[in-house]
Amino acid sequence: MRAVTFQSPGQVAIEDVPEPELQRPDDAIVQVTASGVCGSDLHIYHGRVPVERGFTIGHEFVGTVLAAGPEVERVAVGERVVGCFHTACGTCVACVRGDYHRCVNGRTFGHGSKLGDLQGSQAERVLVPRANLTLRPVPEEMSDEVALFAGDVLGTGYHAIAHAGLRSGDTAAVIGLGPVGLCAVQAARAAGATQVFAIDTVPERLQMASRFGAQALHLTEGDPKRAIRAATSGLGVDVAVDAVGDPEPLALAISLARDAGVVSGIGAYAGRGEVPLGLAWLKGVTLRLGLANVIAHVDRVLAMTSAGLLDPAPIVSTHMALQDAAQAYAMYDRREALKIVLTP
Ligand code: ZN
Ligand code: ZN
Repeated sequence: MRAVTFQSPGQVAIEDVPEPELQRPDDAIVQVTASGVCGSDLHIYHGRVPVERGFTIGHEFVGTVLAAGPEVERVAVGERVVGCFHTACGTCVACVRGDYHRCVNGRTFGHGSKLGDLQGSQAERVLVPRANLTLRPVPEEMSDEVALFAGDVLGTGYHAIAHAGLRSGDTAAVIGLGPVGLCAVQAARAAGATQVFAIDTVPERLQMASRFGAQALHLTEGDPKRAIRAATSGLGVDVAVDAVGDPEPLALAISLARDAGVVSGIGAYAGRGEVPLGLAWLKGVTLRLGLANVIAHVDRVLAMTSAGLLDPAPIVSTHMALQDAAQAYAMYDRREALKIVLTP
């Protein structure tokens, strides 16, 4: 079957790879009908996340169950399903607590041997371990490309808000309006935020955030901090989200949060960095960081999407054939697309 494989930094290819086969009783094989290209795929593309040459990449997918082992009970052969971007065992200490994102046996699709040695979903078919936890049926009326978001990007944006404990009537700021940041804007509005300030430098992304009900603020052409102070009686926001994953936006989030507010960092931080700890301490902010617990959120996110409370459809900017993955990656790398959906 055809699959998108990593070759070397800046290079992916369409290759003929072996067909996936059921290995364990709770495995399923999914015939992929849509697979997303994600910001974290770019980390692989750039060589920042090491993946073996020839490894199939991709971790966002919707498709139809083609085969399932005898212990797969929650989805059936022939059913349309969405996959979460990683698997969880359901029985380790973290899983029993409901912290599926910290599962000690978790495996991430398409991230090479270091993250569980699980071939990716940018392929015609994909092996899905722990299918009872990893897969969910897609509501009938929902399109593939919308459902796709529930297993990663929308689950992550939702987590940024839910993990921060945002309550109805709160105010929020979201820094970084990539797909995850835009989904966080939607999640904040859906959770009842009265004002959501959306900060970025790209005009199209700011426009989309306004379309989602946010007050768009240009990071450098204006003074977002001042604007937010003015709009919140000098207090700052209840919840400040860094959807970038760098020390600088995290520092900005700390400065935008009100006293005893919450700062939610959902971007992928790496290494060390400088943040104003004194200010964070003085304000008494709660800092919540880490990978999103998408498996815990996926049912709620699908239900909210079904009900129209969340709608990632406008974020999809580009549709391409799996065959054109090399072009798709180059284009995404040049930031010429907000979200690319590949069809095998
Ligand atoms: Zn992703
Ligand atoms: Zn586990």
